[in-house]
This record gives sequence, structure tokens and C-alpha cells, in this order.
Amino acid sequence: MTKKQRTMLLRIIVAAVLTAVLALLPDVSILPLGGVEQGILYYLVVYAIIGYDILRKSLLGIRNGRVFDENFLMVVATIGAFSLALYEQSGDYLEAIAVMLFYQVGEFFQSYAVGKSRKNITELMDIRPDYANIEDEDGNLERVDPDDVEVGQIIVVQPGEKVPIDGIVVSGRSSLNTAALTGESLPREIGEGQEIVSGSINMTGVLRIETTKEFDESTVSKILELVEDSASHKSKSEDFIARFARVYTPAVCYSALALAVLPPLVLMLVMGAEPAWQTWIYRALTFLVISCPCALVVSIPLSFFAGIGGASRNGVLVKGANILETLSKVKTVVLDKTGTLTLGVFEVTAMHGPHCEENPSEEARAALLEMAALAECASSHPIAKSLLRAYGKGIDHGRVSNIEEIGGHGITAIIDGQKVAVGNEKLMRQVGVDFCHCHTAGTIVHVACEGTYMGHIVLGDIVKPHAAEAIAALHESGVVRTIMLTGDAKTVAEQVAAKLRLDEVYSELLPADKVQRVEELLASCGKSDKLAFVGDGINDAPVLTRADVGIAMGGVGSDAAIEAADVVLMDDDPLKIDKAIRISRHTLRIVWQNIIMALGIKGACLVLGAFGIANMWLAIFADVGVMILAVLNAIRAMYVKNLGYSRNCVKTH
Ligand code: ADP
Ligand code: MG
Repeated sequence: MTKKQRTMLLRIIVAAVLTAVLALLPDVSILPLGGVEQGILYYLVVYAIIGYDILRKSLLGIRNGRVFDENFLMVVATIGAFSLALYEQSGDYLEAIAVMLFYQVGEFFQSYAVGKSRKNITELMDIRPDYANIEDEDGNLERVDPDDVEVGQIIVVQPGEKVPIDGIVVSGRSSLNTAALTGESLPREIGEGQEIVSGSINMTGVLRIETTKEFDESTVSKILELVEDSASHKSKSEDFIARFARVYTPAVCYSALALAVLPPLVLMLVMGAEPAWQTWIYRALTFLVISCPCALVVSIPLSFFAGIGGASRNGVLVKGANILETLSKVKTVVLDKTGTLTLGVFEVTAMHGPHCEENPSEEARAALLEMAALAECASSHPIAKSLLRAYGKGIDHGRVSNIEEIGGHGITAIIDGQKVAVGNEKLMRQVGVDFCHCHTAGTIVHVACEGTYMGHIVLGDIVKPHAAEAIAALHESGVVRTIMLTGDAKTVAEQVAAKLRLDEVYSELLPADKVQRVEELLASCGKSDKLAFVGDGINDAPVLTRADVGIAMGGVGSDAAIEAADVVLMDDDPLKIDKAIRISRHTLRIVWQNIIMALGIKGACLVLGAFGIANMWLAIFADVGVMILAVLNAIRAMYVKNLGYSRNCVKTH
């Protein structure tokens, strides 16, 4: 509890006790000055204790020209109730105090709950590293600001510490807790030569890491930036509430005025009856208390915030409330193949000579692989990385120049002064080289040198372990179409699509074709049905921006993808696509529950109030009650652990 909350609680308790004493006292006039207007002085003191800040805020509001807000409603209602009691000589001041007291109880609860859940969410996201350890010449560790560490420097991470910067492990073995990043609670083993991402926690061994990025560019900084930004992107429902409150509160005030004035006038002038001013003024004041809009104003942003927090706990970063809203309406999911549905970690399964001969000589194989690896040495495409890994030796960058990567085709480069092309059939046609069709299943990388065909390398990719489950889960959640787009050959594409039971597949697409295909799909979607594109950002970043919701694979994905995407899946697990959709629907459901509940209960009370059935006590209970329910409901958006996958979607480790 903050200091402010503690004072508030103290004020509530003091005021509640004093109110109880005044209520139980058989006769106030036995107290000194208690005879003045049925002891109004005592009631005013209690009123001041509990309500002075509301009075102040409403005066400030009036001075700043923003007259109509909740504070104003409460002040008018309570002062009105005081005046009525005074005028009627009834001594019934308790009501005014109770309204203020309960209103403050509601405010206190709300500030406590909101503060608590915000803290929970940010704590869960507590991944910001405070320092990095660097070694000086004597081998002593020195703590420095992670911002000051340069690329290529060695940092040391001890057990229990957060990894501050992305890099490669140069020595040591350990297990990592990546829960804060990926939502995956199982520790991950890591050893020499492996990439390590910042934000994970080193659990067992000492790791020495050569940094590959600056702190600002590291995963942890990117994530924090995303989450911090996400709060500033308002959703349409949030806008709706802000606009709603601007119109609603003045409307309520004028209606209350009308309720106080018109019926008595009609009674008096038209029907010639008693005007009954007090009755109608009282009803108008009750009306004001009932219609206070705080439940909505508080609970809707809180629901979205909780939803985003819940998603990030599950390793899904959502860049804003508006995105959560769009995500909940997704009916078409378009997926990239390489790196999204498949691991993008290719194994060389075969190498064939220029005439498709199955067993070229050892030298011919070595030459083929070397040429491919040299050409691919600067590319970040999964194919390039896999070829470099298969080659396994260091690259002499001096031998390669003029590297040109042609999206959806492959690479051309000059190696040892010779023009080399490495890529698919499209590329071979483009450079005008005759090649042989390979009938082996797999991704084929053809190699040509100085216009002569050298042979090809057959690469096999592995479908991600959860890919089939992920597609099944999407279908089960009511996604109508699942479509795969790929630049890879038709045979491979169809094989994967059949295995995963995708609805449609389009293959051999260039990056621009993917954009065009998505445009067509967008045009064929219904107006309220949204389309999500899931990719890794390699050759598909433009599509990520073009789709209604762009979902990027954060782990293998390029920085460009993470920037372009609306949603980032931290652990590259395709099952999280469905999880993200479920979280968004869960959140939106809660938002609408709150809107309907609040408006419904308030509407009913307003009608009762207008007919004089509801009194101010009922009004304040309705107001505070609805707010407490709405806030509790909003917090549910954060807890999305068990959204109930069907049995075949249970995660297997
Ligand atoms: P996907 O749509 O499956 O993610 P891409 O659009 O990235 O695939 O690439 C499509 C095809 O273009 C690949 O299957 C490959 O044949 C070829 N290609 C693209 N980049 C490269 C590269 N760097 N080296 C070799 N081939 C490449
Ligand atoms: Mg790709």
C-alpha cells in the first residue's frame, strides 16, 4: 500500500466510526452545539474528513473549465442532500455522509486493485538488467552499466544473474530460466558456442559471453520498449469510453436538472397540484449518484492492460490494446513456411552433381558446399545459416565480393573472381543456366559458376513440433481459413501443408507475390473478419505490416520483423498463435461483460430512481458495487493460463 492509500484508509475508518457513533446516538442535542439544526456541525465535520479531497477536485475542475466529472456529481448529490435535510428540518444528514463514504471506499478499492495489478504485471515483466559484469586484466569482475558494454566485449554472468545483453557463450555451461521471456517454465540447457538472449536468468553455472549486440539492440531492451509503448496505443473501446464519458456526464447532469424542475412545474402549472419540490429534487440527486460512470472509466483500460500483461506472461508480446481488439476478430490466418511452421534449420540430406548423379566425388561435394557457403556468408536466411553450419569451417571473406541477395531467388556473388549463383530454379533461369530437375523431396539449392551448372544441394527442413497441433487449435477456435504462403518449391510446400492439414497453400512466391496474395485475401475477407499473417520477417516483413495483425516469430525472427509486427511470439512456438487469439477474446469478453453489466445495472437503478423507488442508499451501493465487480472482473484478463486446449493440444515436453 502506498502512503496515499494508507491515509485514505485511515480517513475511511475514522469517518466510518464517527458516522456509526452519530447514527447510534439517541439524541445529538446532548452534545455541545448539538442543538444547532439537529447537530449539523457534527455531520459537517465528518463530511469534511471523508470528502474534502473530492470537494477540492471538483472545485479545481470547475476552475479549469471541466465542470462535469464524477467528483462534481458526488459533490452536487451530497451537498444537495444536506440542503434538503436542512430545509426539511428532518436532521437526516446521514445519507449525504454515507454516499461520500461509500464512494470513497470504492475509490480506495479501485486504486488499491489497479495499483496492485499494475505492480504484478510489471513485476512479472521484471527483466530489466541493472548491470553487466566485465573482466579487467587481473580477472576481477567489474560491474558496469550495460549501456557501456560494446559489441564483441566479453561479459560474465554468474548464477542467479540476468543475462544483460545478447551474445554467444564462449565458455561455461548452465541452464537458463527463460520464463519471463517465453512463458516456458522448463529450464533450457546452454553451452559453448550457443546464442544466448538477454532477459533470461542464468541458474547454475558461470557463463562468459561475447556480446553480439549493444544493450539498446538486445532482446530485453526491445521487449521493454514494446511493452512500454503498448500502453500508449489506445483501443477503439477505450476511445469509446473516453468519448462516452465526455458526453454522458453532462447529459446526466442536465437530465437530473430536468428531473428536479420539470415534473413539479408540470404538476403546478398544468395539473394545478402541489409541486412537491423536495421529492423531485431528492429523486434528481439520487439519479446523479446512480449515473456516476466510474466503473467503466476505470475497468476498461484496466482490462486491456491486464490482457496485455497476461499475454506477455505467456511469451506473447502484444503491442497495444487496439491490436488485442483486432486479434479477437481474426478469422483467417496466413502463415509463412520457413522459420514459422518449420524450424528453418535445414540439414543437408543429399548433394547431386551437374547431371543429377547421385554420388558425385568427395572433391566435387566439398567444392559444391564450399561455393554455396561462401556465397551465403553474409545472408541471414535460414538456408544460408544452415549451409554455413554444414560447411563448418571458417569463411575467408577476402575470397567473396559483390554479394547480392535476391529475395525469393537466392544469392549471386563473385568468388575467387568467378561469378557464382546459389539459389532456386527461378534464380537459375534468371542467370540463364541450364539445370537439372531434382526429384528428391526437399528444398533444392542449385549452384552455378561462370554460367556452368555445378549441381545442387538438397536440404531437409523439419516441421516444428507443435505445428500440427497449432493448426488444429486454430481450427478449433473458430478460425475459418488457414493458408500457407511460401517461396519454396511446390512439392515441399504441398508436403508440409498436407502434413499440417492446412486449408490452402500457395508456393513459389516472391516477396512481392506474398504481399499481393495477402491483399487479395484481405479483399475477400468480410468487413469485420480480420486476417493475421504469421512470419519470421525474412522476405515477408512487408506482409507483416500489410495484414490486419502481423505476428512475428521473435526468437529466430529478424529485428525488422519484430519492429514491423503487431504481436511477437517470444519462443517461436506456433501454438502461441492460438493462445494469443484466445487471450484477446478472453479480454474482449471481459470488457463487454463490464460495459453491459455497468450500463444494465445503472439503467435499472436510474429508472427506479426516476420513479422514486430507489433511494440514495441503493444508488451508492449500486455504484460502488458495480465498480468493485468490474475491477475484479478486469483483473481476470491477466489470468489466462488454462484456456482449455483440447486433449490433442496438450503441450508435450
Ligand atoms: P519462405 O516463404 O518459405 O519463408 P523465402 O521467401 O524466404 O521462403 O524463400 C523462398 C525460396 O527462395 C527459398 O525456398 C529458396 O529456394 C530461395 N532462397 C531465398 N533466399 C535464399 C538464399 N539466401 N539462399 C538460397 N536460396 C534462397
Ligand atoms: Mg520466410
